[in-house]
Amino acid sequence: MKIGIDLGGTKTEAILIDNIGNELFRKRIQTEKSYDGTIKGIINLIKEIDNKFEKIHSVGIGMPGIISNYTSLVKNANSIWLNGKPLKKDLDKILDKKITIENDANCFALSEAVDGAGKDYNAVFGVIIGTGTGGGIVFNKKVLQGINQIGGEWGHTSLPNRTNDEIKYAKKCFCGLEGCMETYVSGPGFANIFNNIHNENFNSHQIIDEFINGSQRSKLALDNYVNHLARGLSNVINILDPDVIILGGGMSNIDYIYENISKQLKKYVVTDTFHTKVLKNKHGDSSGVRGAAWL
Ligand SMILES: [Zn+2]
Repeated sequence: MKIGIDLGGTKTEAILIDNIGNELFRKRIQTEKSYDGTIKGIINLIKEIDNKFEKIHSVGIGMPGIISNYTSLVKNANSIWLNGKPLKKDLDKILDKKITIENDANCFALSEAVDGAGKDYNAVFGVIIGTGTGGGIVFNKKVLQGINQIGGEWGHTSLPNRTNDEIKYAKKCFCGLEGCMETYVSGPGFANIFNNIHNENFNSHQIIDEFINGSQRSKLALDNYVNHLARGLSNVINILDPDVIILGGGMSNIDYIYENISKQLKKYVVTDTFHTKVLKNKHGDSSGVRGAAWL
């Protein structure tokens, strides 16, 4: 049996699954916004599961950011109290179990590749389009982390061939670069562009509601959104050529994307045949914690 832990900025969730993915236990706690508090929360969850169940083989932890292979310290976490800390070493000292820590977008991709929407495919590209934009590459059920541990970090590549309007309406990205995919296809990015064009103050849910009620401007915004997504993903397909692209995060719940993206992708991908599937995730919000367990 395997424990998975999804270490988020506000909540920490733990599950226990058996080796075919059946869920035996699940618990969610508030994340304490300090390093010591976060460690204590993780330890308590593991101890609680350990007391109830036997034969626990491994613990996987998914988190925003990663543990650097070079320094063994946390980097790039938006739970900033973790950055620069030796999280894995400190957990290893307290627990006598095999612990693996991985980026949360990679956990999402792994979860969907093992027993989710991508279970029948070898090359899976998992995409998070939610508050932020991220991605993970899983090949033969294994995460491709990369030499710099940024494999699949698609959110901070640039939208190709931006028009003057697309340059004008997008925000500068928090990462310091301009034109990042995240500023177009994350939920806040999508809403920001709509609001700049129409002088509104909508969030992404309100735009979708307006679309469902038949608004032309919201339909146009969604058409542009699908076009932005397709242009960004066409670069991924041209390089990686995955069997399947699986979408997760809040924006992945919009059915209009799946109905329209293939014909957009075909325009931008350099191939005469096009068999790439774009699918919705199977495990929803549970993908992160399930992927952590599969680590
Ligand atoms: Zn960026």
